[in-house]
Amino acid sequence: MRSFLLIACLLVAAPSADDATITAAGLESHVRFLASDALQGRETGTAEAMLAAGYLAACLERAGLQGAGDDGGFLQRVPLYETVVSGTPTLVGELGARFQDYAHGEHFAIYRNPASKTGPLHVVRVPEAGPLPEPDAALALDFEGSRGDARELLEAAGRGDGSGYGMILLRGASSDGKPRGPVRAGSLSRGEADATAAPVWLVVRGALREALEAGQLKTLTFDGACELAPVPAANVLARIPGVGTPEHPELAEQAVVISAHYDHLGVVPKDRDAPRGADGEPDRIFNGADDDVSGVACVLEVARALAAGPGPAREVVILLATGEEKGLLGTDHYLDHPAVPLERTVANLNVEMIGRADASIGGAGQVWYTGPDETNLLEAFNAAGVHVSRDPYPDQNYYKRSDNYAFVLRGVIGQTFSTYDGHADYHSVTDEADTLDYAHMAGASRIVLDAVRLVTSGALDPAWAEGKGPPERR
Ligand SMILES: [Zn+2]
Repeated sequence: MRSFLLIACLLVAAPSADDATITAAGLESHVRFLASDALQGRETGTAEAMLAAGYLAACLERAGLQGAGDDGGFLQRVPLYETVVSGTPTLVGELGARFQDYAHGEHFAIYRNPASKTGPLHVVRVPEAGPLPEPDAALALDFEGSRGDARELLEAAGRGDGSGYGMILLRGASSDGKPRGPVRAGSLSRGEADATAAPVWLVVRGALREALEAGQLKTLTFDGACELAPVPAANVLARIPGVGTPEHPELAEQAVVISAHYDHLGVVPKDRDAPRGADGEPDRIFNGADDDVSGVACVLEVARALAAGPGPAREVVILLATGEEKGLLGTDHYLDHPAVPLERTVANLNVEMIGRADASIGGAGQVWYTGPDETNLLEAFNAAGVHVSRDPYPDQNYYKRSDNYAFVLRGVIGQTFSTYDGHADYHSVTDEADTLDYAHMAGASRIVLDAVRLVTSGALDPAWAEGKGPPERR
């Protein structure tokens, strides 16, 4: 690890533009390091992701920002646990006065989140169209409808991962399946102590499905034969204090969070075939240059430009999050432990995949914005002469697919700048630094900076559009 650290220090110490200009070369130097093979795809929970975090912290410190993480530093530790599987999961049902063992594979399969022991949980049936019972970690929800129906009900309640309940049961085949051994580990969770941690999701079939349909099951006790082992993980957090304006000194109490996620998918596991890289040779590393080193590089340069300029009216919080690819885990942790209370956070402006031009909005140097009709911001940016396009792919639901949406679910305006055109290198080992267009990135990043400044200067006041807002408040 030492040689990596040396590289990181040399890169941070390399000369860069002293003024507030965002340049293609400045952006490229961040991408060349963060998306290099040395960082092994920056998977959350690995030493290489922590090395990336160290580089980001050094860049922000050098740019003159203050730490907003633990103990005034730049890192905010995120307590995450890796699931270590030690045996075959078991499930015991309480049927009247007797107990029935159900077998992994034959009667149930783990659909999401292998967990250690949980239960006994009271089984509650949820009709196809709802309603959901009040959130209660002692309940196992037995969804009568399809998986799609179940997800829709949970999403509509702002609980897409099932958080707040003890177990999610989805109906599978009516016949018994084949016995199965231990599950494969690999998911990360926020840990046993976290009451909001997502529950285990099971697909039930055969005799177990029958017993549920007949309403015979009182309780279920699940033991995933797992242990949770802590892994290293951290968000990178920095701030530029707000100074208010002469007319509105109170703006100094408000904050704007500028964010991007620095984690990615890591490497292809050893027991799977290596896909072909850009040169046709086997390649195991998901470099994630566009996703989302491009956004991180943009935020670093925006932060540097803001720190070099006059003090912002509103406080600027820089959040470079981990755990996005694992289910917005880093941002969720930030929202539980924000640098500025969420009641005083007026907006999250997120940057995701701006490394390549999108011809559908005019190509190089152009940027689009998710959730264009959710708030007053897109219209206000354009009215102020900062040209930002509407998200051209509403069917893809990008508004709900990045860290900004975790803010929305907590009641804070959150939207994402992007220039992703749906290219085939997305989540593939071919998402490499060589494929990015750095001149485009510089143009796009300057637009992001101008838009951010409109909010941090107090020129714009973010507001929900009429009838819009977080799902539970509509
Ligand atoms: Zn991403």
